[in-house]
Amino acid sequence: MDFINYYMPTKILLGEAVVLKNSPLFNNYGKKVLIVTGKTSSIINGSLKDVTDALMKEGIIYDLFNKVEENPSLKTVEKIAELGRKQKSDFIIAIGGGSPIDASKAAGVLIKNSNATRYNLFDSPHLKSIPIIAVPTTAGTGSETTPYSIVTDSELQTKRGICQRIFPEYALLDVKYLMFLPEQITINTTIDALSHLIEGYMSSNANVFSDTLAEKGLKLFGECLTMIKERDFTYIVREKLMLVSSIAGMVIAQAGTSIPHAMGYALTYFHNIPHGKANGVLLNSYLKFCNDKNKVRKILYLLTLENLNDLGDFLNTMLGYVNTVSYEQMCSYSGILALNNAKLKNHPSPVKMEDILKIYKDSLKV
Ligand code: NAP
Ligand code: FE
Repeated sequence: MDFINYYMPTKILLGEAVVLKNSPLFNNYGKKVLIVTGKTSSIINGSLKDVTDALMKEGIIYDLFNKVEENPSLKTVEKIAELGRKQKSDFIIAIGGGSPIDASKAAGVLIKNSNATRYNLFDSPHLKSIPIIAVPTTAGTGSETTPYSIVTDSELQTKRGICQRIFPEYALLDVKYLMFLPEQITINTTIDALSHLIEGYMSSNANVFSDTLAEKGLKLFGECLTMIKERDFTYIVREKLMLVSSIAGMVIAQAGTSIPHAMGYALTYFHNIPHGKANGVLLNSYLKFCNDKNKVRKILYLLTLENLNDLGDFLNTMLGYVNTVSYEQMCSYSGILALNNAKLKNHPSPVKMEDILKIYKDSLKV
């Protein structure tokens, strides 16, 4: 058996009123906290109030940054860091989807290292972050259980991961926060989690631990499939999808994402396609390209689907089509990605430009 390495230090607490019930844990991280969140959703779903109430109960002073946009930019990361450095924040509570959580991890590195600049996020892997506590309000990215932070780099015209590995100290999961998620965001984000399960399962870094988690996540997703199709997002369904998301995060924390994520970034950056949809529309053609047919069959079985056409129909119905990418653009994105070995190394066999182009062509409508 190959050498196996499994590391997942994030403590996960899931339950009703998890933030308020566990407020004493915040005292372990200091007396001044920076809350980082998106524009409005954390007010509407009650997560921001739960956090501020919990902090007041513990006598912890907080500052608030509530302007993280979707696919957060390095500029936003710098603004968060500027506030955290000025206020001498001891730790960050990140509330929201993957965007605020990812932005917090990158800003946490800049706060901890007062001389570091945005460039050090990509060339100094040993830099640490101040502690991050994640309160997710989408069930998709799994950022609460991954060490990754994906930011938008407008100089390089792409989304890219910082090179530090920042696992949150805690993931505090309360299904209540998901109940206000609009239908299409629910779908896009849950398909992101499905992509993580599938890509992690098919990755060259997959091992017995990540596969065990991926299979459980796929089974849970399969149990929700009918309700997802019917857009029947009850508390019970959302609870399962929240588990799926955090489990899928644990899978990619070990095995990484693969070709669909690498290809999806161009769709998000240049065509404004939401992250989950950008990966999801590519999944079916990607699985056709994968050589390990036994694993593909296992995925379909766990999802309660007969064959890849059924998976394709499910994804098309849920996500709709992408028809804004020209053939020339597909060629350009394929050419650039084919040269990026770092992004393709998680696929178990060599990936050529023609392979990438075929996946784009088969997945997108011209
Ligand atoms: P998001 O970009 O964080 O948020 C999308 C939208 O959902 C925002 O408009 C947000 O509004 C809204 N929203 C969030 N929670 C809500 C709720 N409970 N009710 C209503 N609306 C809500 O979405 P995401 O898909 O979770 O995150 C995507 C980002 O994560 C991408 O940048 C992607 O690259 C990254 N990602 C990271 C990892 C990782 O391992 N770190 C993995 C996959 C993807 P507000 O702005 O008002 O909050
Ligand atoms: Fe993702």
